[in-house]
Amino acid sequence: MILVTGGAGYVGSHLVMALLERGKDVIVFDSLELGHIEIIERLKKYGNLKFVQGNLMNLDDIRGVFLVNKNIEAVVHFAAYSQVAESVKNPQKYYYNNVYGTLNLLNAMMEFGVNKIVFSSTAATYGEPEYTPIDENHPQKPINPYGNSKLMVEKIMDDYDKAYGLKSVRLRYFNVAGADSEARIGEWHNPETHLIPNVLKATADKKFKMFGTDYNTKDGTCVRDYINVEDLAKAHILALDYLNNGGDTNYINLGTNDGNTVKEVFTACEEIKGVEIPLEVCPRRGGDPASLVADNKKAREVLGWIPQHDLDDCIKSAYEWEKVLGQIMH
Ligand code: UDP
Repeated sequence: MILVTGGAGYVGSHLVMALLERGKDVIVFDSLELGHIEIIERLKKYGNLKFVQGNLMNLDDIRGVFLVNKNIEAVVHFAAYSQVAESVKNPQKYYYNNVYGTLNLLNAMMEFGVNKIVFSSTAATYGEPEYTPIDENHPQKPINPYGNSKLMVEKIMDDYDKAYGLKSVRLRYFNVAGADSEARIGEWHNPETHLIPNVLKATADKKFKMFGTDYNTKDGTCVRDYINVEDLAKAHILALDYLNNGGDTNYINLGTNDGNTVKEVFTACEEIKGVEIPLEVCPRRGGDPASLVADNKKAREVLGWIPQHDLDDCIKSAYEWEKVLGQIMH
């Protein structure tokens, strides 16, 4: 049985779907502060899924999961706050939840003898890129509390390995995009800050805001490496296999090796929707580096992972999911 913290959220729910489809038993632990019970209900149709509502800030909540479920083989840990701008305004929230919450999880794992974890880390641990594409040897110098909180957890996991034999794979995500290709689940944030859903949601009254057109890139807008959420879920399955096969603690980028500008994404969304999308050019958003592109060689070599979906697949699946989400909301 696999324990997935934050499994009612965007990336976590896509991993849960992938695990259930492979016949794995899954327990989701989620506070539902940002995750959605509707997503859990949808996932339950596809396999053996237990849901426990709890908060990692309460050690007893997470201890209770291990106490009752003696057959947890490994943990995949998504539960965290993940908004850069909010982390700058309210670092306390990020350090408490992302670091202290993880300490509680790790301590419960140690107590109950579970020593394998796959952790959602982020390209934000690299900070301002010193070269591109970014490989795993790039210095880790985060420029905001969100990135710091994730890097702290990476370091804690290294120390727990040396002292207690905890085996971790830290997956450093670039820009996750898209939805389940059958539109059963997808991205559901409130408020939404991510590029693709915001372009798709734009209306004449609420135009899409393009943040910054004066970057030193090919068309002046930021370049990002959009990695499909189903491909990302697959990488977590491979990381679990890697640990089950005796793999040592490791850290791996998940991206496509390729970048797209905000303008390219915008144009692709217009083509897929078949309409003109209302656009407002705005000043730069604070803290956005000009370009973030992953070198994903290590993921290919260590995990045998090959992304299957391109940007158009991400936009098409996100668009189909937006329609489903519209029905759920009404
Ligand atoms: N972006 C934008 N308008 C939006 C949301 C995002 O222009 O409504 C831009 C943002 O400035 C960045 C890129 O799209 O250059 C990707 O932003 P997102 O928030 O999706 O991911 P991030 O790179 O911050 O993790």
